[in-house]
Amino acid sequence: MLVLLDRDGVLNEDRADFVKTPAELVMIAGAGAAVARLNAAGHLVAVVSNQSGVGRGLMSEDDLDAVHAALVSALGAAGGHLNALITCTDPPWAATARRKPGPGMLQEALDQFDIAPDQAVMIGDATRDLEAAAALGIRRILVRTGKGRTTEAKLPAALHPVTIHDDLAAAVTALMAEAAS
Ligand SMILES: [Mg+2]
Repeated sequence: MLVLLDRDGVLNEDRADFVKTPAELVMIAGAGAAVARLNAAGHLVAVVSNQSGVGRGLMSEDDLDAVHAALVSALGAAGGHLNALITCTDPPWAATARRKPGPGMLQEALDQFDIAPDQAVMIGDATRDLEAAAALGIRRILVRTGKGRTTEAKLPAALHPVTIHDDLAAAVTALMAEAAS
C-alpha cells in the first residue's frame, strides 16, 4: 500500500503563517511513530504537500529544505522514514494541477512507485487533500488534527466515503487492523 500524507496538520502542527523555519516545525504527538509503524509493515509513505509560502515569497526553497531536513530528522528519531517527499510551491493565484486540490502530486507518487489508485490511501486534514484523492479514486482518511475538525464540520457529500480519525496515530492503527484482518 502507498500511504499519501499531507504534511501540515497531519505530521506537524499547522501554522496559518506557514512553517518557515525548523524552529516553527512542531511535530504532532505520535506522528513519527505512526510513520515508523507503516514503514515496518512494508508500506510506502509519501508526503504530498502544498507549500505556497515559497510561491508567495514568504520563504525560500532553502528555507523549505531546512524545514524538511528537520522533519526527516524528527521522523527518524521515532524510527520512521519517508519514501518520497513531494511538494508544490505554487501560489494559489498561479496554481497548476500539482497544487492540491489538483491531483498532480498524488499522481506523481503513484507513478513513482507504480501503484494503482486502489492500492493507495490519502490521509489529510483539509478538504483539498480529500478532493485531490477523490479526483484519482484514491481512498480518503480525514484526521482531526490541524484543520481537521473544521473540515469535518463542512465535509462535502461528494467526497464521501471519508473515514475520520482523531490523528495520524489512530488512522494508522485502524489501517493496520484492517491489514491484519
Ligand atoms: Mg494540512
